[in-house]
Amino acid sequence: MPDGKTKKAQHKNLIGGRWVAARSGKSFENRNPADSSDLVGTFPASAAEDVKDAVEAARLAFQTWRLTPAPKRAEILYRAGELLGQRKEEYAQDMTREMGKVLEETRGDVQEAMDTAFYMAGEGRRLFGQTTPSELQNKFAMSVRMPVGVCGMITPWNFPMAIPSWKLFPALVCGNTCVIKPAEDTPLSTYNLVQTLMDAGLPPGVANIVTGFGPEAGAPLVEHPDVDAISFTGSSEVGRMVGQTAAANFKPCSLEMGGKNAMILMDDANLELAIEGALWGAFGTTGQRCTATSRILLHKKIAKQFTAMLVERTERLRVGNGLVKGVQVGPQVNAQQIDTTERYVAIALAEGANLLTGGKRLKGRAHSNGHFFAPTIFSGVKPSMRIAQEEVFGPVVALLQFSSFEEAIGIANGISYGLSTSIYTRDVNRAYRAMRDLEAGITYVNAPTIGAEVHLPFGGVKQTGNGHREGGTGALDFYTTWKAVYVDYSDKLQRAQIDTGE
Ligand code: NAD
Repeated sequence: MPDGKTKKAQHKNLIGGRWVAARSGKSFENRNPADSSDLVGTFPASAAEDVKDAVEAARLAFQTWRLTPAPKRAEILYRAGELLGQRKEEYAQDMTREMGKVLEETRGDVQEAMDTAFYMAGEGRRLFGQTTPSELQNKFAMSVRMPVGVCGMITPWNFPMAIPSWKLFPALVCGNTCVIKPAEDTPLSTYNLVQTLMDAGLPPGVANIVTGFGPEAGAPLVEHPDVDAISFTGSSEVGRMVGQTAAANFKPCSLEMGGKNAMILMDDANLELAIEGALWGAFGTTGQRCTATSRILLHKKIAKQFTAMLVERTERLRVGNGLVKGVQVGPQVNAQQIDTTERYVAIALAEGANLLTGGKRLKGRAHSNGHFFAPTIFSGVKPSMRIAQEEVFGPVVALLQFSSFEEAIGIANGISYGLSTSIYTRDVNRAYRAMRDLEAGITYVNAPTIGAEVHLPFGGVKQTGNGHREGGTGALDFYTTWKAVYVDYSDKLQRAQIDTGE
């Protein structure tokens, strides 16, 4: 049992390598969204004083961690990746219990953390800079990556191990120390991740966890003057506040936020393939992915046929506790999230969309103790309707129609978000035009809007992000700062750009 737990699963913060309660002694409960009688554990309800302790511990640890050779830092990540592999089933079960998505998906979440560990471990022997000629004789010029310092991280609940790993692993391999504030719905998966790092040999204070709610524990982390950079993933609403606070202190800040992702089906699409993609994209993770397929744009010629196929397959989806074999769609994460879904169903109906299936909470024996919502499809949706513009973050998909490729691109782009997009077509020219013209950080061809791989850049444009990327080398760019180094071996003062007019 990890050191952070007692037998009653009363968890503590991890600060400077020690497990400590919140100074106030307050805690909150983490309950299973599929069965609210199942208490997963209690966690510290931290406040600014706890954040302060964690930042101090991270600052102290930075002095030695930044001097640890990057390949040695990487070895710890590699070992952590191996340990995660050994613990995958246990951690996946914990994750399904705390946030609901089905076991196949929570295993995938742990797998994503493993992939990130191995990828970032490789970076320990790269972290490339540049060498370049100097404009002066007997002078050497290069650029090197330096760690940023103490990094504050705030994460959402829908990928409770993968997203913390996207932040922690690149930050650590680059020589930073970290304080992470996980979402209040899913602290256990972050504990499991950081515990694994500690077991792999991460020194005390290099990664610290402070649990609690956004305004009480998240905001002080953003505001703390000794936090050098902030990485946030969550809603655009909270991201805006985080970004404004960070900007006031000139703090580098990476914001990864919401999406309203469109799948375009041209009239030459392979419809059988597209159905599989639509079901997975719209209802995987109960629609609670930032990349979820929440709009399906149908060419008029195939709209009727595809809609009938989609409704029929959606009604066959098995909704229930994600720990039960055969269940395909889990619960929503909490009461607030299911209220939001219900509210959007009412809004869509009021705006004149046609409810084809779902649209209601699921009751009955298998669903009585959890936040279950029937997979929901609306047709007749107009691009300006709120159900076509705003993120629901639930198992709801809006069907829209178009008559030409250009119109489809216009509808897909006509929103304030820009995370993921997809097009189903067999026409290579159209596919390439879509890759060029869709305003999004990610475009899939003949696949749904979900399914990112960790070594490619992840993030979006418009109100989805502020220009940074997780995954790929973009993560290294965020967690390092460039230093230009000049070495003059001429033994005389050489003045760059000085023009004596001779
Ligand atoms: P949220 O914005 O409510 O919370 C995210 C985190 O911010 C939580 O840890 C929360 O405690 C914290 N927080 C809340 N108020 C805060 C404040 N005032 N100051 C500092 N921190 C605060 O989001 P959520 O409900 O956890 O997650 C769902 C959202 O996340 C969706 O909008 C989804 O699209 C987005 N998301 C984006 C990505 C991406 O990479 N683009 C990935 C996953 C989820």
